[in-house]
Amino acid sequence: MIIKQQLVNSRAVTFSGVNRRQFITIHETGNVTKGAGAQAHANLQSKGFTSSWHWQVDDEFAIQSYPHTAQCWHAGDGRGNGNLYSIAIEICVNSDSRYQKAVANAARLTQQIMKEENIPLNRVVQHHHWSRKDCPHFLRSGRNGIDWYSFTKLLQEGAGKSPLKFGNTGSKIKELQKDLNKLGYKLVVDGSFGPKTRRAVQYFQAMHQLEVDGIVGPRTSAQLKEALINKAPIRLLKYANIGKAVGQLQLNLAETGYKITIDHSFGPETLQIVRQFQGREKLTVDGMVGLTTWESLKHQIFK
Ligand SMILES: [Zn+2]
Repeated sequence: MIIKQQLVNSRAVTFSGVNRRQFITIHETGNVTKGAGAQAHANLQSKGFTSSWHWQVDDEFAIQSYPHTAQCWHAGDGRGNGNLYSIAIEICVNSDSRYQKAVANAARLTQQIMKEENIPLNRVVQHHHWSRKDCPHFLRSGRNGIDWYSFTKLLQEGAGKSPLKFGNTGSKIKELQKDLNKLGYKLVVDGSFGPKTRRAVQYFQAMHQLEVDGIVGPRTSAQLKEALINKAPIRLLKYANIGKAVGQLQLNLAETGYKITIDHSFGPETLQIVRQFQGREKLTVDGMVGLTTWESLKHQIFK
């Protein structure tokens, strides 16, 4: 795919504000005429058309007509989020372009824009999303051998979802902090993965049967999503268990004021302290750390 710019200088067919670039809207041109590819559509915009969009893609080219900051007229929603805050991509459907290749190119371009503008997958939407138009028509019907679901799969492929870890900053960390807060971790949503965020991630991992490494990789990320809808499995810690999760529990008990050896081993001392903690918090005193004990300890630590 050759990526190039053929920018339109006029702003006659755009709104005058700044596009906040929160969504990507996928269209199809609907024009099956031979030769109606990306270059022809870019030329159409250069000459001055009645509507506008940022990119057009066919089986060979991706051509940019407007900077992403422009508020193009494409979504059919007036001054709605579609026109004002999304980036528009038109997939060409001319009969002399290989449609599936054009869709694959559109997926690559979309991935690139998602990365550049920090737009998550769930904010890549169809034109239909904004104004109920049957667009992108072929992707919606799947009639040309590739449907919307496959398109979104293409977006996920090789996207290289890098794990979130200590030292990272940005909107993904903000989302993580917001999610953790919904689970009671009470973090400052500052978009910075610092010691407190790491501590919360470690606690979450210890509590939910994950490796306690403080890094949000695919498994932790998936468990987090499950926990938000209330079904992530809880780790039950009890006498004779050993490992990092036990170490994490001991660390957290120490933080709440108990004098405890951090030896990653649930021995007699840890058992006694867990019982003391349960008594103090008026929980069932069984010496086993299950959901209620994990939650209670969480409230002590993250406040
Ligand atoms: Zn459309």
